Amino acid sequence: MFAVTILGNNSAIPTLDRHPTAQIVTCNDQLCLVDCGEGTQLQISRYKIRRSKLRYIFISHLHGDHYFGLIGLLNTLNLMGRTEPLTIYGPAPLEQIIQIQLDSAETQLRFELSFVHLQPGYSGVILTDKDLEVTCFPTQHRIPCFGFSFEMQKKKRKLLPDQARAYEIPAAYFSKLQEGEDYRKKDGSIVKNDWVTLPPPPGKRYVYCADTIYDTGLIPWLKDADLMYHETTYLHDLHERAAERYHSTSVQAASLAAAAQVKHLLIGHFSSKYTELEPFLEESRPIFPNTEIAEEGITFIV
Ligand SMILES: [Zn+2]
Repeated sequence: MFAVTILGNNSAIPTLDRHPTAQIVTCNDQLCLVDCGEGTQLQISRYKIRRSKLRYIFISHLHGDHYFGLIGLLNTLNLMGRTEPLTIYGPAPLEQIIQIQLDSAETQLRFELSFVHLQPGYSGVILTDKDLEVTCFPTQHRIPCFGFSFEMQKKKRKLLPDQARAYEIPAAYFSKLQEGEDYRKKDGSIVKNDWVTLPPPPGKRYVYCADTIYDTGLIPWLKDADLMYHETTYLHDLHERAAERYHSTSVQAASLAAAAQVKHLLIGHFSSKYTELEPFLEESRPIFPNTEIAEEGITFIV
């Protein structure tokens, strides 16, 4: 199971029926929270997300609509008796912001909370755990901001059965070959694993682009992704305002998805001024037909 559940799809100001940004990425039995706008813990309850499975939190940047829900969520996890460790990845000042709130309340967390500081402009792999690998990359926003690429990795190597038989390897040993082991023949000679297998095929990939101005420089991070989330704060008639505020439009998100040849596009982070979201699809789909609204409560399989 590799999926994204939308908890919030609105930008800066929450509305009565839309919440600021938050998403759950599920990778088998591991849950990651991506951004944590105000009210995220209520959305977690509403959509019956298994809090206890939450292991990692990724915060893209320090505009409030992406993290004001964090202290509330942490406090609730503590009150509910959590003991499993939790790791937060985000801009460096976040640790201090959270710590001052915990210290002022003399709250001692019962679980181990660690922070991984993302330095401005940093890109690279930040997490490898079980079958999940997460890479971060900078996006162009008013303050340092990061996108995250989630890859569900396949562990097993691809077996080349004809080659394996040519080396007289019994079929009973094939699963060990897929796990990367060499084979020792009866005469003591070794058949190297990479003579009879290929590296695992690339895993599925979900890329979260956070807040960003339209930027073709992101394409290398997005290329061929199975699912990409891109913000569309505005419809395209407001493209000048979008650029001034380091945000993007529906047309820009769809153009980037087409240029990067991703398979599916999710759009969100809508300005509160819009009550109808349908026009975002009407502008995006002529450019990139496989576009969906990141609707709250909906789970998208990667
Ligand atoms: Zn922002």
